[in-house]
Amino acid sequence: MSETSIRGSSEGPEQTDYDAVIVGAGFSGLYELHRLRDELGLSVKVIEKASDVGGTWYWNRYPGARCDSESHVYCYSFNDELLDEWDWSERYPEQPEVLEYLRLAADHLDLRRDIEFDTEVTTAEFDDSAGTWKIHTDDGETVRSQFFITAVGCLSKPFIPDFEGIESFEGWWTHTGKWPHDPVDFEDKQVAVVGTGATGIQIIPEIATSNPAHLTVFQRTPNYAVPARNRPLDEDDRAEIRDNYDEIFDLAHSSGFGHPFEAAYDTAEGLSMEEVEKRLEPRWEEGGFRFMLTFGDLVTSAETNEKVSEFIRHKIRETVDDPDLAEKLVPRDHYYATKRPPLHTDYYRTYNRDDVSLVDVTETPIERITPSGIRTSETEHEFDMIVYATGFDAMTGTLLQMDIQGRNGLTLEEKWEDGPKTYLGLGIHGFPNMFTITGPQSPSVLTNMPVSIEHHVEWISDAVEHLVRNDIRLIEPTKEAEESWTVHNRQVAEQTLYPTADSWYMNQNIPDKPTVFTPYIGGADLYHDTIREVAEKGYEGFELTESVTNLGQQGEQPRLRVMEGD
Ligand code: NAP
Repeated sequence: MSETSIRGSSEGPEQTDYDAVIVGAGFSGLYELHRLRDELGLSVKVIEKASDVGGTWYWNRYPGARCDSESHVYCYSFNDELLDEWDWSERYPEQPEVLEYLRLAADHLDLRRDIEFDTEVTTAEFDDSAGTWKIHTDDGETVRSQFFITAVGCLSKPFIPDFEGIESFEGWWTHTGKWPHDPVDFEDKQVAVVGTGATGIQIIPEIATSNPAHLTVFQRTPNYAVPARNRPLDEDDRAEIRDNYDEIFDLAHSSGFGHPFEAAYDTAEGLSMEEVEKRLEPRWEEGGFRFMLTFGDLVTSAETNEKVSEFIRHKIRETVDDPDLAEKLVPRDHYYATKRPPLHTDYYRTYNRDDVSLVDVTETPIERITPSGIRTSETEHEFDMIVYATGFDAMTGTLLQMDIQGRNGLTLEEKWEDGPKTYLGLGIHGFPNMFTITGPQSPSVLTNMPVSIEHHVEWISDAVEHLVRNDIRLIEPTKEAEESWTVHNRQVAEQTLYPTADSWYMNQNIPDKPTVFTPYIGGADLYHDTIREVAEKGYEGFELTESVTNLGQQGEQPRLRVMEGD
């Protein structure tokens, strides 16, 4: 049924051509494949490193891995059949359930036949003369495509600090983002967890209740964790959700954070602590990100933030029995939510157990990993198992790892030497016909991801359709548009408290990465209006080129057509 054709490869018979190559088969890659293949009729190939669909939910299968967005909005909204077919079992879905959901989506939409699993992109280069992308993979294949679309997620390159002696450890060790598929047994083991971000805070209570001989947590920065208040969903919950799907998705898709709720109050400025507590307490009991959205100026007003931060500190002190330990767990060095705010289930109570202890590495830094454990400046701790919950080279890490080369061989690494520069987080000057789903400088990680993903996939698909229908060969952000978006990103971030924290939002978790606020904090609602207006104005800020002859190409130019009707 597809009328597509892309012809003109000059690379010989081994060459395989596609209209679009997508990298990644998580939430974004799957939906992009569906839109381009099933709605536009284009020929599309998805390249996926993992052995199955799922993206982040394929890799992060550590005990306790659970989504912090509420399940009924952590899903696709574009397909009614999928919505009807699927029931979530809990308020926040656990990793196996999200993975099962994505497998169902892939099967329901018959997506697997166009996904090449167990394959990694090693280089993607723009061929100036042909105006197409050549994508090389680790199986030695090269495919040529008109469009190159990255759907690689924002947190997909695991990071383990370069501890001396890491390979010498003779016990079992792993990073949470590379968790094995077989069950891991902690029973009677001496276990270490390094890291207390959102991941550490999820896995620590799970390991503690798996009968280890002892669990030792290595903490560098305490976090403000808020109770998730997870619970099973029953038939009444599900019926209510189903009856209100339209309203729920309308709210989520028009909100500033992609969740179906907005801030309850404007500010805590000028309020007494008693008045603040009165407003915060019900949201605390409700749990989840609803608490974070009690006051609308949480990340712009130091006064509001300090009051909310103090409320959480008090809750931590109330929960942890040992006052000295409680003080170690109380964050003081950053404002709440300027590092990604974790949700927790029994995290702080875990420290009341006799078989759990905390090492504050700001007091006693990790000096090296030894064959039998972790040596700090104070002592050597012996372990059977070490879990690194030490985060990711976020937002740009996976993109840079792919060795992407734009016009005239300019690498993305060179281009982003001082930090990412994009237009709208969707395209990059010098890299024509390349789109980045939830790329740096888009709201992405500051929102409920599936919502941002749907906006991006739909925008990119509409752009591709516009190009194909109008016989436009290339789309590329102008230098001016990119510069102005990059400056705007920085200026918006500077109006908030975010830059005051050492966080992965600021790239500060990775040595030698330029310090720059990477997602877009101007609000998902405003952002979506902006990208819609850009499209309505004929892709304002993008240069659209009808022919590649100006690039020096000789001979036939590839042409592709979208499917008509149907
Ligand atoms: P993370 O937030 O970057 O946390 C990494 C942890 O490792 C931090 O506590 C960090 O300390 C520590 N660390 C790093 N280098 C260290 C060193 N050399 N010595 C000691 N400690 C070190 O990573 P994450 O917890 O994996 O979370 C990453 C993101 O994934 C989250 O922010 C969230 O967006 C996403 N996530 C989502 C969910 C969910 O939806 N449920 C769950 C998990 C993760 P510092 O703070 O001092 O740097």
